Amino acid sequence: MPQYNLNTSIAYLTGVGPARADLLKSELGIRTFGDLISFFPSRYIDKTQFYKIGELQQNASEIQLVGKVTGFKSIKQKRGSRLTASFTDGTGTIELVWFRAAKWIKDSIKVNEPYVLFGKTTLYGTKFSMAHPEMELLSVHKKSGQIIMQPIYPSTEKLSNRGVSNRVLVKMMQQLFIETQGKFRESLSESMISENGLLSKSEALYNIHFPKSQELLTRSQQRLVFEELFYIQLQLIRKKIIRKSRIKGYVFDKIGPHFNDFYSHGLPFDLTNAQKRVLKEIRKDVGSNAQMNRLLQGDVGSGKTIVALLCMLMAIDNGFQAALMAPTEILAIQHYHSIVEQLGDLPITVKLLTGSSKVKQRREIHDALMDGSLDILIGTHALLEDKVQFKNLGFAIIDEQHRFGVEQRSKLWKKNNLPPHILVMTATPIPRTLAMSMYGDLDISVIDELPPGRKEIKTAHRYDSNRLSVFKFMREEIEKGRQVYVVYPLINESEVMDYKDLMDGYESIVREFPLPKYQISIVHGKMKPADKEFEMNRFIKGETNIMVATTVIEVGVNVPNASIMIIESSERFGLSQLHQLRGRVGRGAEQSFCILMSGFKLSADSKVRLKTMVDTSDGFKIAEVDLKLRGPGNLMGKQQSGVLDLKIADLVKDAEVLTQVRAEAIHLLNEDPTLAKPAHKMILETYQHIAKNSTLWSNIS
Ligand code: ADP
Ligand code: MG
Repeated sequence: MPQYNLNTSIAYLTGVGPARADLLKSELGIRTFGDLISFFPSRYIDKTQFYKIGELQQNASEIQLVGKVTGFKSIKQKRGSRLTASFTDGTGTIELVWFRAAKWIKDSIKVNEPYVLFGKTTLYGTKFSMAHPEMELLSVHKKSGQIIMQPIYPSTEKLSNRGVSNRVLVKMMQQLFIETQGKFRESLSESMISENGLLSKSEALYNIHFPKSQELLTRSQQRLVFEELFYIQLQLIRKKIIRKSRIKGYVFDKIGPHFNDFYSHGLPFDLTNAQKRVLKEIRKDVGSNAQMNRLLQGDVGSGKTIVALLCMLMAIDNGFQAALMAPTEILAIQHYHSIVEQLGDLPITVKLLTGSSKVKQRREIHDALMDGSLDILIGTHALLEDKVQFKNLGFAIIDEQHRFGVEQRSKLWKKNNLPPHILVMTATPIPRTLAMSMYGDLDISVIDELPPGRKEIKTAHRYDSNRLSVFKFMREEIEKGRQVYVVYPLINESEVMDYKDLMDGYESIVREFPLPKYQISIVHGKMKPADKEFEMNRFIKGETNIMVATTVIEVGVNVPNASIMIIESSERFGLSQLHQLRGRVGRGAEQSFCILMSGFKLSADSKVRLKTMVDTSDGFKIAEVDLKLRGPGNLMGKQQSGVLDLKIADLVKDAEVLTQVRAEAIHLLNEDPTLAKPAHKMILETYQHIAKNSTLWSNIS
């Protein structure tokens, strides 16, 4: 019995060798015994089931038959030859086909002997055929017949071309169980296993590969999902604890004149209870001596901006500077104007820095930041440039997080000797399971209440053929003094077609709504920033009735008098984008409307998206649907896929387990913060092993 451990190279497994080991590494990322054991089947085929050729259905795909080869035929082709064979089971005949290794096949298969045959059938005319079937003599199959459910492993074309078929993978896996005697070190504590009714590690691993029954398969999956999610949560929560205990932050110990003055005289409305609660959570954080890293979740229009402003005032009262970073220039400008306006005569200096700031302005800003005469800096990515240095940045707010990479968040840290407190505000809600997995190391605040008096936005779906009635509706609303957005998709900035759609749409609207009675603004990504701002401002001031735009207005723009949102080609937008766009209306006292225009041809997903929009305006519900439709990776973007690269767990299906393991991880770390207790030895070791090899640490700043 060779000595092995899970780090042993796969090349040492009997039957693998260096060439196959290279192939396994390059194709499947399998390097070690440990990698192979956690290479899980993507599905199973019930091997207790045998089909009859006479009863095959047109859509029969991967099937198992018992029968005999009655004869071979060789057919010459341009290159090499093709070998076919007739295979019968008494109820009918199918044709077997081989394009390679004809001679070897012909020599090794015995005619008129019973075989178990496994493969994919294709229907040609009235006859089924099967290419490159897996074959085993019935007598041999009976002896090795312990496989009840045949595991099917994910594979690649290159692997099967090089002879590493599913059968070979199964053989390797069986060999692995032989060489390891199927004994694997337990990685969860005894109490966790018993309290949660889990299978042991060894049992689970055996049954995930070679299920002895459907029930054991299900329980193995449960156990392995539990383990995978548990270790992710353990890492995230430990990281949070370490940050809180080790990373010192600035202490804001007083609530000063600016905050108080603004709170009692400057606020244009009463805060909602949710806003008050969140502010309290933040105040508690910044009053301790640990650095705050908090995610603020709230639906579109829930009033995150005012919370941000109050936070900045806290910083200023304690002698610090504050920064607010937005994902687009338009949004940064809008924040700048509304904050300057809201601050009124408070003696606070605010400046705007974006990609289009002039060199001279930049220099002034750089100087004012360094000598401390500038209190609040608002801007775009431009804030992250190395040249932008603060005298004492105490609070940084990142609006509409998911557009920023995670590394960018960490850049803010380096602007000071101590990292500033950081508040990340989401554009739209993130499903709970995703938030727990992606931001499990942050503290999370939720504004789960909209300001009072909001009327629900009425949403309807209309086909393009109804455009005339939509125009009529627009005219009626404009008559009442309302303003209208008409938004076109611009999926790709360089897409000529999209611009053509936009310009055609603009022209038809100009025709329908002629000057001088109607004024129309247009804003799109190819315009100069100054022109964009000019047009935006005309609309904000109410000088124009209609704003024709691409998605540049998606994020954050606030024009309370605009109460109609018309989204063209709405089937091309994602759910969160639609929800964001709709959130541009419903900000004033008037009844607002959102009309989703589309063609007749809609994919199944588009239908679900549009129906969801019509049915609900709850951003959290919409986010859940979005997660189901698109999966976590697409929802959160590539840069974060490290955390979402799950082997077996599924953030949609396993939401409940996720909640359970998170509680488990918190409980464990409360009881034994350093995992020093003997009962937790295996957890500590597994944790260290995973932490060493995982991208989790570097991926989440
Ligand atoms: P978001 O959370 O989407 O960033 P905003 O901060 O832009 O939302 O707020 C949306 C609108 O609601 C703004 O016009 C803002 O002034 C207003 N608002 C925010 N909080 C309240 C409140 N407590 N009462 C009334 N209006 C509010
Ligand atoms: Mg906002």
